[in-house]
Amino acid sequence: MKRIKPLILIVDDNPQNLQIVGEKIEQSGYDAAIATNGTQAYDFAKTNKPDLVLLDIMMPMVDGFDVCRLFKDNPVTSGIPVIFLTARTDYDDITRAFELGAVDYVIKPFNVMELNARIKTHLDLKYSREQLIDYNKELEKTNQELKQANKIISEKNIQLGETMKQLEIAARTDPLTNLLNRRRIIELIEIEAIRFARNKKLFSIVIADIDFFKSINDNYGHDEGDVVLKSIADTITATIRKQDSVSRWGGEEFLILLPETDANGAKNLTGKIREKLAVSSLVPLNIDLKVTMTFGIAEYDENIFIDSTIKKADIALYEGKNKGRNCVVIYKGDAENKT
Ligand SMILES: [Mg+2]
Repeated sequence: MKRIKPLILIVDDNPQNLQIVGEKIEQSGYDAAIATNGTQAYDFAKTNKPDLVLLDIMMPMVDGFDVCRLFKDNPVTSGIPVIFLTARTDYDDITRAFELGAVDYVIKPFNVMELNARIKTHLDLKYSREQLIDYNKELEKTNQELKQANKIISEKNIQLGETMKQLEIAARTDPLTNLLNRRRIIELIEIEAIRFARNKKLFSIVIADIDFFKSINDNYGHDEGDVVLKSIADTITATIRKQDSVSRWGGEEFLILLPETDANGAKNLTGKIREKLAVSSLVPLNIDLKVTMTFGIAEYDENIFIDSTIKKADIALYEGKNKGRNCVVIYKGDAENKT
């Protein structure tokens, strides 16, 4: 706390000294307080916290050294600069004064300008020290706030990351079956086509359609229809290999992408799915229902658009439907499929 006029406490057992020093101090623009003994000085300082103390050494009862020690031992008064004002000049006393924490000493009789210069120096030092302490406190507070803000930001970032992840999953997933959606499987087919351009490893596309699905919905309701879709999705997922991908292509249609697999390899794998479905009832239903699927297969053809390869698988699928369903058909080329 900085006063308008700094308060200086003068401690001396000699009233005449007190008067002289007090006057000089006030003439120099300070407020002066006086104490005639050490105890009085210490009590005053604890309550009023003067900005500086001019302390006589030789006093009865409690001498200046003891007063200085009292000041320095108490955190309330330890920051107050103490200048000894003394008639004693021997080296030991001066050394002792500094050891006890005094900042300076002035020999009596003193020169007013010198005294003022020393007072000013130590007041400035004291204020600078206090400012530094305040500044450090501010800094510490700002640091804490920054830390808190950083913590919040990093928490928000984690939440954002989670949300992004969920959005990404949602953007590529069919919500009913948890299979990939149409958009995502097309991306994967495009990637596969790029890979083909480099390594010429054939891949196949299968379109699979549930036989008589409409009658399942009509007879048992859409909820049961959904159960069938999910159950079939699980069966296909459990049967394909790690490198394969399956998507929900449309209502009851699925598209399966089989990398590094020609039409015959695709037929083998697809046959396994067809057999699994044909021999097992779709379990979670309360009804004894056998569901079959028809599959159309097309090998990738680099000379046509991806859409056209998918179209070929579709044509094969409808050939299978016409043949009586529950079968696997490979697209055999334009000539044979024209009819
Ligand atoms: Mg004295």
